[in-house]
Amino acid sequence: MNPVLLIAKKRDGHELTANEIAALVAGYAEERIPDYQMSAWAMAVYLRGMTTAETAALTEAMLHSGTTLTWPAGGAIVDKHSTGGIGDKTSLILAPLLACYGLRVPMISGRGLGATGGTLDKLEAIAGFRTNLSLPEIERVVNDPAVGCVITGASQELAPADRKLYALRDVTATVASIPLITASIMSKKLAEGLQALVLDVKFGSGAFMKTRAAAEELAQSLVATGKRMGVATTALLTDMNQPLGQMAGNAVEVQESIEVLQGNGPEDVRDLTIALGAEVMVSAKQSGSLLTASEQLARSLDDGSAYERFARMVAAQGGNLDAPRPIAEESIVAAEQRGFLAAVDTEALGIAVIEMGAVAGR
Ligand code: URA
Repeated sequence: MNPVLLIAKKRDGHELTANEIAALVAGYAEERIPDYQMSAWAMAVYLRGMTTAETAALTEAMLHSGTTLTWPAGGAIVDKHSTGGIGDKTSLILAPLLACYGLRVPMISGRGLGATGGTLDKLEAIAGFRTNLSLPEIERVVNDPAVGCVITGASQELAPADRKLYALRDVTATVASIPLITASIMSKKLAEGLQALVLDVKFGSGAFMKTRAAAEELAQSLVATGKRMGVATTALLTDMNQPLGQMAGNAVEVQESIEVLQGNGPEDVRDLTIALGAEVMVSAKQSGSLLTASEQLARSLDDGSAYERFARMVAAQGGNLDAPRPIAEESIVAAEQRGFLAAVDTEALGIAVIEMGAVAGR
């Protein structure tokens, strides 16, 4: 395989075969193909796009660049992925909520991206909480019927080709390519050995995708790739033109998640979590309809069982919920005149939260 010919083929708008894509990814992962050739190829993909078959082949090649999790018989293996938004804390609530129904949730999450906070950063506001579980630890906790879920970072063994290619895309202006984003997200998620996946694809001022049309295109690409690879995949398009819930920042978002897990908290966070969970319950054949699933999930929030699962997950990952969390003192900023809040520059709010110190564990 001559990488120059494959770069030229994509540059000229032709479709690469699955074998050609696999050879490129393996060559790059094994350092036989240098960064400059992979950058040229990534830019050709950015400009020319990829077919669904090419995107699936890229996902598969990156997925098989590392270990994939395999599971003994038991509850369905499920997860959700969000493209990220300000105040988006649904992962913290959804993983234990789904585990209440015997579903197993090996949720591999990330750090903040751009103006959005990362699930791992939020959880690290809990004293002692470990986000670097090894693969055997993930398997042990997820297979423990009393817990059934983890939220942890990607180990080095999962989809290593994506880590390398993502770092290259970051410095070559090739991140914002729908097929490259699709393969990047899906290779990491599918390495978890999933049977069902729901995607929360956000659009608006506080999201990676600024318009609904762009989010829809990404959602279609993600769903088509997931289905092609045998995973029951659905997506919701959700509005990120205002923050989700009333809290943005790591420790305060943990606090708000606990409120929702205990049957309280803001309605938008609760409703979105239930809507995403219901998709998974139906895809995993745990519920016959979205309505039934929503009612089941609401009950588990209200009767305390979701919070109990969360507490067990936190304990299994070394966290101490009783230890104080670093919540800043409240200060009220009063409006200078009466009026209505017509719009929120959500991205600016996310950046402000980061500037105030919302990095890992704060
Ligand atoms: N998140 C990812 O994991 N990969 C991308 O390419 C973009 C967002």
